[in-house]
Order: sequence, then structure tokens, then C-alpha cells
Amino acid sequence: MTFILPPLPYPENALEPAISERTVHFHHDKHEAAYIDNTNKLIVGTRFENDDLETIVKHSEGSLFNNAAQAWNHIFYFNQFSAQKGMTPEGNILKDIKKNWGSFEQFKEDFVSIGASQFGSGWVWLIKNKKNDLEIIKTANAATPLTLDGCKPLLTFDVWEHAYYLDYQNRRDDALKALWNIIDWRVIEKRHD
Ligand code: MN
Repeated sequence: MTFILPPLPYPENALEPAISERTVHFHHDKHEAAYIDNTNKLIVGTRFENDDLETIVKHSEGSLFNNAAQAWNHIFYFNQFSAQKGMTPEGNILKDIKKNWGSFEQFKEDFVSIGASQFGSGWVWLIKNKKNDLEIIKTANAATPLTLDGCKPLLTFDVWEHAYYLDYQNRRDDALKALWNIIDWRVIEKRHD
């Protein structure tokens, strides 16, 4: 199948000041678009030609894995934000966060610190592991928890420099902290339930 770049569920300037319109534009229309284009090119003539993106991510390797996984990670990333600022978790997701980290504040601190400590490019994730417990993990480059057994990704911050360098330069920590203000916790809760 041919994959298309999904449109953003908000205008490109909707995430300011956490993420500038310029960064959203380059990140979505250039970086994410390139991963999707490359995936389309790389599946031609392979056994993956008729598979959906998740199947390709779970079963491919090398360049195809890198591009398909980055396509999947970016779709997942951009779908979790909202033009509505300052939302906070509620219901079951909040209950589980408090169970693991004591408070939402402590969870945010741990999440950012694990993301900031990823050496080089990658992602930091909130996942539900196979024991049904919440956990924060980091992955390098294109690696994604989608390939981990029984693991359900709930939330992710992109720590590749292209995600923040135009706005924050070397201040990855500040770039990550700013994202809490634009998370759509209704999306995270749906992924969690
Ligand atoms: Mn990215």
C-alpha cells in the first residue's frame, strides 16, 4: 500500500510557544514526510508491499525499519498534541501515574530527565508493559516500543535535535519541559484504556 502523510489535527502554529510554527512545519512536512516517502519507495518489490505500517515496523529491518518506524513514531507523536493548552491527566491514567510515581509532578520530572539523558537521537516513552504497569523507557534513533512484546506505547517526546533545535538549540531539557503544556491527555487516556 501507499502511505500518505496524515494531516496535523491542528494548525501549524497551534502549538506555539512550546513548538514554533517553523519547527512544526519542518518536522511534519519535511522530516515526517521524508520517512513516509522513503517507506513507500523501500517496500516496492518486497513482501511488505501490501502490509500496514505497524506490520512493517514489527517485521522489517535496516533502512526499511528505520524509515517505517520513524513514520509510525512521528504519526503517534503529532497526534498527541492539542491547540488547547494546559490540559492535565484525569481518570485511570492519572490513577496509574500516581501509583507509580506518587504524583503527576514527579512523573513529569522523571520523564524529562530520562529523555534528556538519551545520548544522541531517540525518543522517550510512557508505555504500558506486559504486566500492565506504566513505565518510562527511552529508545535510540528509530527504535520504537511497538516492537517490544506486550508493550503499549501511550506518550512520547522526540529527542532528535530536529524536533527542537530551531527553537531551543542545545537546551533539550527546556524543549521537553515545554511539551507538557500541549499534551492532549484525552488522547493518552484513550491509548491507555
Ligand atoms: Mn522527529
